Amino acid sequence: MIKSLLIANRGEIACRIIRTARSMGIRTIAVHSDIDATMPFVQAADEAVRIGPAPARESYLVQARILDAAKVTGAEAIHPGYGFLSENAAFAEAVEAAGIVWVGAPPTSIRAMGLKDAAKALMMAADVPVTPGYMGEDQSPEHLQAQADRIGYPVLIKAVAGGGGKGMRKVDAAQDFAGALLSCRREAGASFGDERVLLEKYITGPRHIEVQVFGDQHGNIVHLFERDCTLQRRHQKVIEEAPAPGMDEATRAAICQAAVKAAKAVDYVGAGTIEFIADASEGLRADRIWFMEMNTRLQVEHPVTEEITGQDLVEWQLRVASGEPLPCRQEELAINGWAMEARLYAENPASGFLPSTGPLDRLRFPQGIRVDSGIAEGGEVSPYYDPMIAKIIVHAPDRGTAAARLADAARQVEVWPVRTNAAFLARAAADRDFIAGNIDTGFIERHADRLVPMAEPAEPVRQAAALALLPRDDGVWRRLSGFRANAAPDRRIVVDIADHNYLVELDDNAPRGRDVTVRGDRLLFLDGEAWPLGPPRASAAGAGAASDGALLAPMPGKVIAVEVAEGDTVRKGQKLLVLEAMKMEQAMLAPFDGVVADLMVKVGGQVTEGMMLTRIERGED
Ligand code: ADP
Repeated sequence: MIKSLLIANRGEIACRIIRTARSMGIRTIAVHSDIDATMPFVQAADEAVRIGPAPARESYLVQARILDAAKVTGAEAIHPGYGFLSENAAFAEAVEAAGIVWVGAPPTSIRAMGLKDAAKALMMAADVPVTPGYMGEDQSPEHLQAQADRIGYPVLIKAVAGGGGKGMRKVDAAQDFAGALLSCRREAGASFGDERVLLEKYITGPRHIEVQVFGDQHGNIVHLFERDCTLQRRHQKVIEEAPAPGMDEATRAAICQAAVKAAKAVDYVGAGTIEFIADASEGLRADRIWFMEMNTRLQVEHPVTEEITGQDLVEWQLRVASGEPLPCRQEELAINGWAMEARLYAENPASGFLPSTGPLDRLRFPQGIRVDSGIAEGGEVSPYYDPMIAKIIVHAPDRGTAAARLADAARQVEVWPVRTNAAFLARAAADRDFIAGNIDTGFIERHADRLVPMAEPAEPVRQAAALALLPRDDGVWRRLSGFRANAAPDRRIVVDIADHNYLVELDDNAPRGRDVTVRGDRLLFLDGEAWPLGPPRASAAGAGAASDGALLAPMPGKVIAVEVAEGDTVRKGQKLLVLEAMKMEQAMLAPFDGVVADLMVKVGGQVTEGMMLTRIERGED
């Protein structure tokens, strides 16, 4: 067994690898960029070596720096994690040439699977079903067009050197082919320095199913069953699970055997994944599942396989790299229960999933479940690397329970001020169609309106904020009626959420969020979302009936006129301001004689439904 290991990676996967290596008594060495110097993976390692500035191409991608670090620290082996140099055959060769153990796929396998057309050809030769299409030498536009016509539309054009979803074009009709080919070639040339393309039948509403395989240096290859990674957004995986919903034993046996055949065809050693695309329009069927590509590394989503098999795949990697045989034979592996993983990203779903970077003044994960993360509270999400904060992993006896636990776990995430997709993940995991297994790769885009939380606080958030903003010693409104001796029981309170005011009529079922103060900001965490709260408005939290005069926007719109100023005396029925909503103008009138106490809006301002526009304080007489 190797005695020391350098991890040529960062973040959660570096932490993950260190955890297992340490438990096996292996000395661990981290390499890090300048801005990562205090990250948990650096602290967790026995030793750490700085390899350069923040940009990955000046640190984590500089092969010579990493090799130097290994030599200086006497590292016996290098684990590349995923991404960065993990599928770089030249680096794997350089590591081996330096007499260091490469905890990754053999360089020959990486090369064989690196180009999509060569990989497909290899798979066809090995009798593994591949997506119908064309991947020939003749790259003339006329020939490609004829092939596309033969395959039948829609057709997918893929760059043979493509990856990460780049260099792909879907073509719906023959007359669009030439244009799509041109732009695909341009992108492929610019991104991969290789303009060659292949054509595939476009599978409508497909599922992404992949099989974990493992080989050792003694010629043994096993599979560890399948994962379903169908829930994607723009070809990026969001929720992964194992096993795949709707997979029967015969189909499982067929695709797992195909995966083992694929791995054998490239004399595979170590952890690898064979990705398939499935046409599940009539259920999963063995004759409608096709090879897509092989990933010659450990996958981000490997934990779901660990959870259902009870195996530690990093331990397997280290044993195999040390020359040991695989820890298990095929017949010793079995599926136990159901596992799901959700990727918690620093991004804002409400603004088109824009990345959100910055400090993590608060970072709390659900307790009692597995969370693989590489960042701690007080840390920072930097713009230099992948914005994944953590992987939330659950394991349960059955799929329904797993989904419920995942949704529940996502709802408990508390992050501030960085925005996350936690609420979106919770909604996806609790979605009726997801629970029913009605999924395909277009699921998220198609159901965006019910999965993506709104930018403004929905009613439950307003309710929870009202509950949180009531006086501390009397947080539950029920007791409030007794508390306010001088007024009729008042369940109404003006709350300030994310710089907007809302008049809330508190009801019995107000959900209870978590109300905490972080660096002076009062925050409400509810169902995975974070909302900054303003101070309670004295008038509402204190003296009773004042909120009666609050005027709320009846619908979202724009303020086109404001005819009063704060402090003005107004008569009942007097026009206060005018809203334009749904192409109609609506005048907001004073409900009684009084004084304009709060004027919350200006001409030109946008208002959301339920937002407080102004408040009239009743005249004394
Ligand atoms: P990359 O290497 O760029 O990640 P892949 O070939 O792995 O590209 O495909 C990425 C994703 O594109 C798949 O997960 C799937 O959602 C979709 N896809 C790929 N091939 C097809 C196809 N023939 N029909 C429909 N969708 C496809």
